Amino acid sequence: MEGYRHSVLLDKDKCTGCTTCLQHCPTEAIRIVDGKARIDSDRCIDCGECIRRCPHQAKKASAGSLENMQRFRYKIALPAPSLYAQFDNLDDIDYVLNGLKKIGFDEVFEVSKAAEFVSEYTRRYIRTEGIRLPVISSACPVVVRLINLLFPSLSESIIHLHPPVEVAARMAKKRAMEAHPELKEEEIGVCFISPCPGKVSYVSNYKELYDLHIDEVVPISDVYFLLINAMKREEAIESLSESGMIGVGWASSGGESTAILNEGYLAADGIDNVIRVLNQIEDGNIPPVNFIELNACPGGCVGGVMTVQNPFISKSRLQSLRRYLPVSMNRMPEGERYIPQEAFFNKIEEFAPERRLGSSMAESMRMMSDIQRLKNMLPGIDCGACGAPTCRAHAEDIVRAGGQEPDCPILKARMLSEGK
Ligand code: SF4
Ligand code: SF4
Repeated sequence: MEGYRHSVLLDKDKCTGCTTCLQHCPTEAIRIVDGKARIDSDRCIDCGECIRRCPHQAKKASAGSLENMQRFRYKIALPAPSLYAQFDNLDDIDYVLNGLKKIGFDEVFEVSKAAEFVSEYTRRYIRTEGIRLPVISSACPVVVRLINLLFPSLSESIIHLHPPVEVAARMAKKRAMEAHPELKEEEIGVCFISPCPGKVSYVSNYKELYDLHIDEVVPISDVYFLLINAMKREEAIESLSESGMIGVGWASSGGESTAILNEGYLAADGIDNVIRVLNQIEDGNIPPVNFIELNACPGGCVGGVMTVQNPFISKSRLQSLRRYLPVSMNRMPEGERYIPQEAFFNKIEEFAPERRLGSSMAESMRMMSDIQRLKNMLPGIDCGACGAPTCRAHAEDIVRAGGQEPDCPILKARMLSEGK
């Protein structure tokens, strides 16, 4: 996609060029150039792994702000279920939802409510005759971008259903317009309170293509402290929550799969595990399952870099919270047989897959052979001194740039010491 807008950014002044991020970027999107990290926009999937790893806080996530919501007359908050897991001893979601109203929102619509509908749509989708199984969840935008970039043969396996956040935004706007006929559609603003930068990029890049109804994406970390002050336990609260165990469970890995109520699923979390699973699917080396849930963050959305709590603690809090909830509070109306049209998106953005080297098979083969030749010349220690994460990546950079010789400081030093 031309001009892709990323939400993971580098603060050059803080970067020391230490190469930590270089070693951990799952798509090899980072190079060190002139002593500073540089992110290749075409390869970056906004997973936030470099934010987690940088010891100098030189990587950051950019997102929208609550102030930007002031442009709307009527403001709706869409809390991600991972927001609930940020609070210690929370036994009632309504404290969080009332807190959101106190900090300035007119209405709250839980993403977990929409997730319960998406779970039901998914169950129907999988049961539809002729669907090629397994299907891969579309809920994690980082995984969707990763598949399109590095595993394009699996793109068609992604379920063509909008993720719960967009389904929630559509339902929320529709409900507000019905309840407030005095408002024009453009006066109603929908703000997603997000655990990860991946969702920021999803909205900023695909708003037009998918006619997304989300207007602003704000980090959980930005609302957390405001909510702590607003959530007063002694005050009487309105009953607002409309979701059950199924919807809230989506916040952690495995929650979406168990909501399918079918044993034929596979769930993996953490970007390295996700890549391992995708490689195995591509190789045809997985057990027969119907549904694959992949979350880029460790533990699922509770592990997003825009949350404030340790994902393992969050996961355990969610388990306690879910004990107080009904199984589900949202079912498709009795007798309704079809998934509504607006739940689908029609096409997946096409990317130039990164694995494709040249414009033709012959050119790609020639380039592969040049890469192999250069790689054989290099020391093979993947030290990062050249600015690339591995010797192979360095060889590929040289060949893609039309070069023929490696530019490796270790190799040069060795040749000097051998008098070559
Ligand atoms: S981890 Fe990356 S961004 Fe952070 S200081 Fe080191 S090179 Fe720079
Ligand atoms: S966000 Fe992820 S893909 Fe992008 S540079 Fe950082 S680690 Fe690499």
